[in-house]
Amino acid sequence: MEKIGVLMTTPMSTFLEHELSTRFTLFKLWTQSCKSEFLQQNSSYIKAVVGDTTCGADSELIESLPNLEIVASYSVGLDKIDLDTCRDKGVRVTNTPDVLTDDVADLAIGMILAVLRRVCVGDEFVKSGEWKSCELGLSSKFSGKSVGIIGLGRIGSAIAKRADAFGCPISYHSRSQKSDANYKYYSNIVDLASNCQILIVACALTEETCHIVNRKVIDALGPNGILINIGRGAHIDESELVSALLEGRLAGAGLDVYEDEPEVPEQLFGLENVVLLPHVGSDTEETSKAMADLVIGNLDAHFNKKPLLSPVT
Ligand code: NAP
Repeated sequence: MEKIGVLMTTPMSTFLEHELSTRFTLFKLWTQSCKSEFLQQNSSYIKAVVGDTTCGADSELIESLPNLEIVASYSVGLDKIDLDTCRDKGVRVTNTPDVLTDDVADLAIGMILAVLRRVCVGDEFVKSGEWKSCELGLSSKFSGKSVGIIGLGRIGSAIAKRADAFGCPISYHSRSQKSDANYKYYSNIVDLASNCQILIVACALTEETCHIVNRKVIDALGPNGILINIGRGAHIDESELVSALLEGRLAGAGLDVYEDEPEVPEQLFGLENVVLLPHVGSDTEETSKAMADLVIGNLDAHFNKKPLLSPVT
């Protein structure tokens, strides 16, 4: 029997690549020198797309695959998938929720500690030998600081649980108040920012949440505030963030994601109060394997006509 064609859009996990290639005919889009020619020649074989946070399935790709049945994303975020086109064409969509929640929440707390306690600055201070001639100076405490979370979903809730253990008062903003959450709710994000010392972005990226952190929100957080972004780059108006940091209108930031990855505003490189990571929120060995298992499990379930493990549509 002819194997089912699966298209991987970008390199994401060698384990996933290997597992997909043993089950399916695996096409690797990034290895094709001319993508349009490749799609013209192979589009009819492809029944599944596996994408991630860098390259998912936009309407052009979906439209070019006449026999596409499923998009299985190696990510929880769905912002790189054209969900409307998938719905219109009856293409199923799956993602990788839950398995990465702890990692992303851990890293959000790690970034808070790194910014406030100047972990990267201290590391460089020791390694450069500067310690032999002077003292590093004081940092700022995390325990007890008020934390505001944008998006109290799986990751936002896991961050809240961790910050709670640091004795931090927690508040949040989302589209609706959560009846099962014992934290202060703000229906207005500016009010949330005005009433916390550390603001964490952990919501989904949609048209509504693009630039949800704008100049008004940054100014409400103020010159003593810390901004942490573990969601998506486009949640924050990046040029406003850069000017606020350069002008001292914000105390610091911890960023895992950027508007135009892997491009990062170079004005941030010289700032000691900013910690920059290369979109690695869920990049641990354990979670990478669990995400790959979920992608494979969803494809196996779909092609064997069993219930999907993590359906989105
Ligand atoms: P989730 O459980 O679906 O939570 C998403 C949250 O976004 C919900 O609490 C939702 O709250 C909120 N939200 C949606 N629209 C909103 C709006 N207009 N205003 C305010 N809040 C809104 O998803 P999750 O698993 O926690 O993941 C959250 C996001 O983290 C993902 O979408 C992804 O972008 C990002 N992420 C980043 C990394 C990384 O490596 N940095 C890794 C994994 C995930 P309401 O429904 O109540 O509004």
